[in-house]
Amino acid sequence: MPTPLIVGNWKMNKTASEAVAFVQELEQQVRVPKGVEVVLAPPFTSLPAVRQALTGAQPFRLAAQDVHWEDRGAFTGEVAPPMLRDLGCDYVILGHSERRQHFGEEDEHVNRKVSAALRHQLLPILCLGETLEQRERNQTDEVVTRQLTRGLEGLGTTEVAKVTVAYEPVWAIGTGRAATLTQAEEVHGLLQGLLAKLAGEAGGHVRVLYGGSVTPDNAGELLGSRVIHGALVGGACLKADSFAKIVATAGS
Ligand code: PEP
Repeated sequence: MPTPLIVGNWKMNKTASEAVAFVQELEQQVRVPKGVEVVLAPPFTSLPAVRQALTGAQPFRLAAQDVHWEDRGAFTGEVAPPMLRDLGCDYVILGHSERRQHFGEEDEHVNRKVSAALRHQLLPILCLGETLEQRERNQTDEVVTRQLTRGLEGLGTTEVAKVTVAYEPVWAIGTGRAATLTQAEEVHGLLQGLLAKLAGEAGGHVRVLYGGSVTPDNAGELLGSRVIHGALVGGACLKADSFAKIVATAGS
């Protein structure tokens, strides 16, 4: 069984000074259970402050919420992989549905970002998931299959093994309507089968997280599943007490 991973995606929330105060709250309230990995993903602007504020009391690791695929150059407003490594990031969230929906990210962009991240020792968290319309048209399998295969195109098996996949049905993100265990397990099973086909044994090492309205109330059921290897948490990670409860659940 892979190491459970809980990722808190802060999205576009908290200034650097708010982030420092929040890290102090997190260090007081969150107890990372043995054998569980916890990653904080603040906005770019708060990464240095968060890194500095972390005392090491809890083994939190850092993620960015996006990255550009080039190492440097004339890409105004973008952030390159070496810049994130330099700030102490281990992970980077890629292909989040909000980036696909509001910023025109296509599978091809996501694929370039995944490769660039790996080239710079950043571990990609590749997000994918269907919209409500796609689910209602029975296109879920086709959509997530395409997003996974295109997202990982061109990678060798050792590289695939370093990726984490996050299944995030778009209709469940920020809506308070999480997927049922059955719905999540069906897609997780499909993704794990695809990963095994794509990368053989290495594919079996890939963690598949669930994301979409995870709360302290539903985390127990979701994280209790053998095929759900952790959670990508949005709204509920912005309050130290609810994030602490979700993290504690991952260890039980
Ligand atoms: C997310 O942003 O990845 C997410 C899952 O958000 P929420 O938990 O708020 O649905």
